[in-house]
Amino acid sequence: MCRHQIYLGPPASLAALLIDPPHGLYRQSWAPRDMRGGGTVNADGFGVGWYTPSGPVRYRRATPIWADPGFVELGRATTAGAVLAAVRSATTGMPVAEAACAPFIDGPWLFSHNGVVPGWPHSVAELAARLPVTDLLTLDAPTDSALLWALIRRRLRSGADPGTAIAGTITDVLAVAPRSRLNLLLTDGRRAWASTAGHSLSILAGADRLTIASEPADDDPAWTAVPDRHLVVAERSTYTLEALCTSTSS
Ligand code: GLN
Repeated sequence: MCRHQIYLGPPASLAALLIDPPHGLYRQSWAPRDMRGGGTVNADGFGVGWYTPSGPVRYRRATPIWADPGFVELGRATTAGAVLAAVRSATTGMPVAEAACAPFIDGPWLFSHNGVVPGWPHSVAELAARLPVTDLLTLDAPTDSALLWALIRRRLRSGADPGTAIAGTITDVLAVAPRSRLNLLLTDGRRAWASTAGHSLSILAGADRLTIASEPADDDPAWTAVPDRHLVVAERSTYTLEALCTSTSS
């Protein structure tokens, strides 16, 4: 079930962050260790978003990350101090298309979802109906992840605190689809927000850098697992953890 990662820190090459680590996202695409939600490989596309002086840019493809030699070249040549990347294992019935690959983008925001909303689309139809019609007409893809992004994006555009936007959306979705898996990542390039609801997540925090990833990228004992149903709010050098107030249990 998809693997994703955020890095905040001194500029590093995309290759150093994603390809070179012994169990980095690149390797997790074909040999993930913790696919507790199903699936075996993450071969239905990938995406990398990083921050330039003029804002975030993305590189996404609907092919396995290992089948794109162009990304290796790009990864060696591109450095960034804030990166959100994801490899995708499409949920059955959802399209395999570049537009369905995270990160999703809006202004300064990059977003990713690891998980599934059971009963899609019927279970969340009423929730979706609360969105402005234009938000539904401009959904990135007909997927649960794109709808989650539209729900969070609507709250962000209304000025909500990002952590509150994530927590509120998780509460709303769990109310109608209690067995949803909702590991979310959001960044504006300076800070990051991450949730655990149904999937694994770990943090490696250094003096001036921080990585949040579905699985530890190496054997560094400093990787710390995030407990389920929690929200991480992070900057380069610090992070806080708070329990998500969800009334349902998975
Ligand atoms: N349900 C989402 C999709 O199909 C995310 C899949 C996942 O986490 N494996 O894109």
